[in-house]
Amino acid sequence: MLEWNLMRIAVFVPLVVAAGLVACAPTPVAKKEAPKVTKTSFGKTADGTEVSLFTLKNSKGMEAAVTNYGGIVVSLKTPDKTGAIGDIVLGFDSLDGYLKEHPYLGAIVGRYGNRIGGAKFSIGGKQYKLAVNNGPNSLHGGLRGFDKKVWDATTNDATNSLILKCSSADMEEGYPGKLDAEVTYTLTEANELRINYKAATDKETVLNLTNHTYFNLAGQGNGDILNHSIQIMSERTTPVDATLIPTGELKQVAGTPFDFTAPHKIGERINDPKDEQIKFGGGYDHNFVVDGQPGTLRPAARVTEPASGRAMEVLTTEPGIQFYTGNFLDGALTGKGGKVYQKRYGFCLETQHFPDSPNKPQFPTTALKPGETYNSTTVFRFSVAQ
Ligand code: BGC
Repeated sequence: MLEWNLMRIAVFVPLVVAAGLVACAPTPVAKKEAPKVTKTSFGKTADGTEVSLFTLKNSKGMEAAVTNYGGIVVSLKTPDKTGAIGDIVLGFDSLDGYLKEHPYLGAIVGRYGNRIGGAKFSIGGKQYKLAVNNGPNSLHGGLRGFDKKVWDATTNDATNSLILKCSSADMEEGYPGKLDAEVTYTLTEANELRINYKAATDKETVLNLTNHTYFNLAGQGNGDILNHSIQIMSERTTPVDATLIPTGELKQVAGTPFDFTAPHKIGERINDPKDEQIKFGGGYDHNFVVDGQPGTLRPAARVTEPASGRAMEVLTTEPGIQFYTGNFLDGALTGKGGKVYQKRYGFCLETQHFPDSPNKPQFPTTALKPGETYNSTTVFRFSVAQ
């Protein structure tokens, strides 16, 4: 009996104490979980390879959906001045749209973003020939560039990142060296989409990676981009010939339709009949030399759209930025939500080394040697203009 009573006390007393502690404890506050990177199926390629769609979210309502097919930014949702969230990049609703021919919507471009003149270059006296896929030149890495690869994907919830890796065999698309590339997309709490590119090779090669997203800050499919204002932090461009290969000259923008050192509407001078460069590009399709020191992350451009109030800043470590105004869009593509992409419905700001650098020794080098690490960062920062 005594034993039984002692046992009851032994059980009862701690229970009462515990209950008391619970009763006195402050009501637990729901801990705010950091947003998780989610993964859903995005379909299969023609050879049956599974492709995924990764969605990065932040606590400000911003959201970026990226597929490991081509590292494509499929959608990018940001708030406008009323707080309404809208998708501001051109693209397709499903993988099928991206498997057909399209002008690199949202894609990672490699091994060489933009053009290499005559589709050839030399390293150490040895000539390398590339696919001729744009007039007499090679454009955006050839016939099956990085935009068409299925990348290996991992995610990091702690940094809110998607890490994509791919390997390109020696002589793939004519480029020497086995190349291992890594592209990391990070969505920050400061409403920035950061892209970091890393790569290494086992033989000397050339490399110029970029992202080819078409933006429309009024919302994808909502008209052309001519009423957006843009400022480009650049005193010089690399003028081109009729096939859009740089002549090698660096030309001051002052007094030309390329002077965006102060903000101008994109549409203001885009059809200037007197400007030969505008004629060659059918509008803007030119590389600007970003002011400041390449290798340091610095502002390259700022774009605003009056109706939505959205603003986008671009910062990069790259020496140049290709400002392309969607001159070749022609209504042939039907994108997300059935929107038809007409001429100039999107603009690209492709941070990069200058086009045709492998044939222009006076330009910053695109050579990558064994033992070196290619490292490049670009930030797209979103806000609402006050
Ligand atoms: C090029 C354009 C081309 C577009 C789509 C841009 O980077 O400069 O000339 O039409 O990409 O391929």
